[in-house]
Amino acid sequence: MRGQVIERGSEGYNEARAVYNAMIDRHPAVIARCVDAGDVIAAVRYGREQGLDLAIRGGGHNGGGLGTVNDGLVIDLSSLKGVRVDPQARTARVAGGCVWGEVDHATHAFGMATPSGIIGTTGVGGLTLGGGMGHLSRKCGLTIDNLLEVDMVLADGSFVTANADQHPDLYWAVRGGGGNFGVVTSFLFRLHDIDTVIGGPMLWQPDKSKEVMQWYREYIVDAPDDVNGFFAFLTVPPGPPFPEHLHLKTMCGIVWCYTGPHDKADQVFAPIRSMFGAPALDFVGPLPHPALQGMFDALYPPGFQWYWRADFVKELSDAAIDRHIEYGTDLPSIFSTMHLYPINGAAGRVGAADTPWAYRDAVWGEVIVGVDPEPANAAKITAWTKDYWDALHPYSMGGAYVNMMMDDEGQARVRASYRDNYERLTRIKAKYDPDNVFHVNQNIQPAQ
Ligand SMILES: Cc1cc2nc3c(=O)[nH]c(=O)nc-3n(C[C@H](O)[C@H](O)[C@H](O)COP(=O)(O)OP(=O)(O)OC[C@H]3O[C@@H](n4cnc5c(N)ncnc54)[C@H](O)[C@@H]3O)c2cc1C
Repeated sequence: MRGQVIERGSEGYNEARAVYNAMIDRHPAVIARCVDAGDVIAAVRYGREQGLDLAIRGGGHNGGGLGTVNDGLVIDLSSLKGVRVDPQARTARVAGGCVWGEVDHATHAFGMATPSGIIGTTGVGGLTLGGGMGHLSRKCGLTIDNLLEVDMVLADGSFVTANADQHPDLYWAVRGGGGNFGVVTSFLFRLHDIDTVIGGPMLWQPDKSKEVMQWYREYIVDAPDDVNGFFAFLTVPPGPPFPEHLHLKTMCGIVWCYTGPHDKADQVFAPIRSMFGAPALDFVGPLPHPALQGMFDALYPPGFQWYWRADFVKELSDAAIDRHIEYGTDLPSIFSTMHLYPINGAAGRVGAADTPWAYRDAVWGEVIVGVDPEPANAAKITAWTKDYWDALHPYSMGGAYVNMMMDDEGQARVRASYRDNYERLTRIKAKYDPDNVFHVNQNIQPAQ
C-alpha cells in the first residue's frame, strides 16, 4: 500500500472511521486509504485472505452507513482523486474517490456538466452506481445514463474495464446495481453543454401546499425537458440571505433548474410566479451550475443524525397530497425535509431493462428525510420519517431508489427496487462475485 493504513487504536482512527451520518458508529478493524488501483487490488486481496468483511467507501454519504463495517476492512477511496476533462470527446474521466463538487468544478471550466445529485459533497462512487437523480435528470437523464465506462477491481483482485464493448454484462450491472460487483477506481462520463442555469428555490406559505402540489403534479408530467423542479417541504434557515420574517417558518416550495435559452426563462417562470399569488420567497435567477449544485452544502454538513425512507411514485392523488401536507408541514426539526425528485423527461425515456434502474415509468423519486444535529433527537426524527413513509407508502409504486434506503429495510425491498431486473443482476453477480465478497451494500445475492 502506498496510501495510509489506519488500524483500530492508531492515531486518526476515530476521524477516519466517521461517515457523513453521525447515527452510524461503526468500528472497522482496518481502513485502507487507497491512492491508486494497485492499493485497491492489495486491499481486496488482503481482506479476502484474512476473511474480513469488505466495505467500499466513496464519499461516505450513504444514509445506512454502507461505506463502513464493524470489524472489517474499509476500502476508503477518499484519497483517489482527479478529474480529466476531454473537451473534444466531451467526456470526463473521474477517479473513484471524487465527490460531485470536484467534478462540477472541473467540468464547469469547459462550460459542461454531467448529471448528479443536489449536494456537492456526495460521493461520485455511491451515487453513480445506485443511479443518480438531481437537477439535470429531466434534461440529461440519470447519472447512469451518462456513464460510458468504468475501471474496476473485481472480487478476485483482477482489474477490468467495462463499457459497451468490454464486459457489457458488467457495464449493464454497474449502472444501478450499486457496489455489488467490485471497486470502481475510475468512471468515464458523457458531458453536456450546461453552464449558467436559471435556478434556485421558490417557496410558498404552507396554506398554499395543496394548490401548489395539485398544480405541480400536472405541470411536471408535460414540462419541457429544460425545466426541472423538485418539490419540497422545508424550514427556512434562520439567517441571511433569507428574509427575517420567514426565519424558521415551514414552507412548501419547488427548487428549479432551467437549462433552456435564458431569454425564454421568463415565459416559463412568470406564470408560475403569479399562479398562487407572489411566492413568499423567490431566489430563482441565473447562476453557474456548480453554484446551484453547492447551494445546500453548507446547510447539511457532515456529522448530523440522518434517517431516511424512499419510494418511487407515479401519481400524486388528492388523498396522497393530504397525507403529505399532514406530515410535511409538521417537520420534526429545521433540517428535516421531504423531496419529490422528477425522474421523467430524459430519464424516463430509457428502457426499463436497458439498465438495472427498473422504474423508468415513475414520475418521482420521493424521499422523506429526518435530520438533526442532536443525537438526543435521533429517535424523534426516525419516528417521524417512519410514520410519514408508512402513511405514503400505499400510494407508491412499491420499490425505492436503493441509494435512499437505510440498511435495515430487508432483502425484499432490494428486490422490489429492481423489479424484473433483479434476476439478471443475480446472474451477473454470480459470474463476477460468486462468494458475495462485496456484500456491504443493498445486496444482490449471487444466483445459485
Ligand atoms: C446529503 C445527501 C444528499 C444526497 N443527494 C442525493 C441526490 O440528490 N441524488 C441522488 O441520487 N442521491 C443523493 N444522495 C444519496 C447518495 O446517492 C447515496 O447516499 C450514496 O450511497 C452516496 O455515495 P457515497 O459514495 O458518498 O457513499 P459511501 O457511503 O461512500 O458508499 C455507499 C455505497 O456505495 C458503494 N461505493 C461507493 N463508492 C464506490 C466505488 N468507487 N466502487 C464501488 N462501490 C462504491 C459502496 O458499496 C457503498 O456500499 C444524497 C445523500 C446525502 C447524504
